[in-house]
Amino acid sequence: MTVYLVGAGPGDPGLLTRRGEALLRRAEVVVYDRLVHPELLALAPPGALLVDAGKRPGEAHRQAWISEQLVAHGRRGALVVRLKGGDPYVLGRGGEEVEALQAAGVPVEVVPGVTSAVAGPELAGVPVTHRGLATSVTVVTGHVGEPSTPGGVDWSALAAAGGTLVVLMGVERRAEIAAALLAGGRDAQTPVAVVERAAGPRQRTQRTTLAGLGDLAVEAPAVIVVGPVAGLRLWSAEDRPLHGARVVLTRPEGRIGPLAEALAEYGAEVIGLPLQRIGPPADGGAALAARLGELPAFDWLAFTSVEAVEAVLSRVRDGRALAGPRLAVVGPASEAALARRFLVADLRPPAGAERASGLASAFPDPPGDRPGRVLFPRAAQARPELPDGLRAKGWEVVEVEAYRTEPVPLEDLPSKALEEARTADAVVLAAPSAVARYRELFGTEASPRVVCLGPTTAAAAADLGLAVQAVAARPEPAAVASALARALGRPLPAGPAPADPQ
Ligand code: SAH
Repeated sequence: MTVYLVGAGPGDPGLLTRRGEALLRRAEVVVYDRLVHPELLALAPPGALLVDAGKRPGEAHRQAWISEQLVAHGRRGALVVRLKGGDPYVLGRGGEEVEALQAAGVPVEVVPGVTSAVAGPELAGVPVTHRGLATSVTVVTGHVGEPSTPGGVDWSALAAAGGTLVVLMGVERRAEIAAALLAGGRDAQTPVAVVERAAGPRQRTQRTTLAGLGDLAVEAPAVIVVGPVAGLRLWSAEDRPLHGARVVLTRPEGRIGPLAEALAEYGAEVIGLPLQRIGPPADGGAALAARLGELPAFDWLAFTSVEAVEAVLSRVRDGRALAGPRLAVVGPASEAALARRFLVADLRPPAGAERASGLASAFPDPPGDRPGRVLFPRAAQARPELPDGLRAKGWEVVEVEAYRTEPVPLEDLPSKALEEARTADAVVLAAPSAVARYRELFGTEASPRVVCLGPTTAAAAADLGLAVQAVAARPEPAAVASALARALGRPLPAGPAPADPQ
């Protein structure tokens, strides 16, 4: 089998190429670098062997060991992905690894990646070339060599060449590099931009001049850009409305994804903390199955959660069984869950009234000539608003337990997420049960600002003594993002919001 050198891109997992992702999904062995995002490793199949090849300070000699690993796994026929930060051939020693594989007769292919040398400045609002400012760009290492000639690089020649200079691995020696460029004749006022942790939610850009670079406090990893373009500030990832905000999402396992992705689009760093999980009903689903056998005897099937839709549809083998009753949903999420299975909801409360009581009001009256019947598959702990409202209108409502929401025991919660949750900027609570669990674990004094989805959740939070900073009227990502922005005191600018991912 082949060893693939795959460029992982810089800090944002979204910048992996499609070919890189396809190979990762098939990998049997992944040998990865320190700067590779953990989310990318999660793309590998569950049984894949993950080998940490990260070089830490003082471990400079691991390169031979890495090449040996690649050769050994390649020889035994495994599909190996060698996942390297940025692009494999840009100051990443990828060339040496390919030489070692070729010398050993192991087949190898290279998949290019997005290099931090270009993407780092770009995401900070700095184009590496720009009409009238720079017609060339030089990428250089600041790492090797003696301090007097850092990198064994001819810095005077680079200074004389002009254009844009992008220095990687230059944090430690930034003062010497600046001095060498000044000695080579570059102007002391040449703009410099330093981009730390580029492409990630903690990206930070500092702007200075060549004269000021040595005194700037900088943390690795960082890209240093020198040249007139560094004085530009076009769109930067740091302009996104929630950039840098650390937000805890407490939805049940499996329900965090779409909202997390959308909040990341706004620049937030999302910490998934599934306080609850969805389990089968106490009777294992026997009552639900029996009711689903009587579907033709119901006028309506009413859903107030995505979980209920999924519990029902996972038990329906032939979609035509649903041809009889009409379908009512509480809001867009359950409507979308039906739509994914090619079912169109017949009734949804008007915008702004997307809750159980709103659904009850939106229901028509029962037929006059016979009793009207509604089947309501619901959570074990469901609230009574919908059945009470429908009964008041004269409907006969059959409630059946379709699933239950269980607290995830403390010992099963990811300890890193628990720890981060204490210091995060905000937490999003999506249901009264999540409020109760959050309160139990963190008390009322936790530092994150509390954002609730919907008035019912907000009321439950207030009842338990939590200070609620903002309420999202609707569960769509755009509404949650704007509630978060309000809670964090940085309201979203006017204009179209990023599209919600489907
Ligand atoms: N092959 C990589 C570069 C490897 S050298 C690429 O194409 O991007 C490692 C250096 O790259 C770091 O010292 C730093 O200067 C830069 N770098 C990589 N990722 C970075 C990031 N997310 N933010 C800032 N600099 C980064």
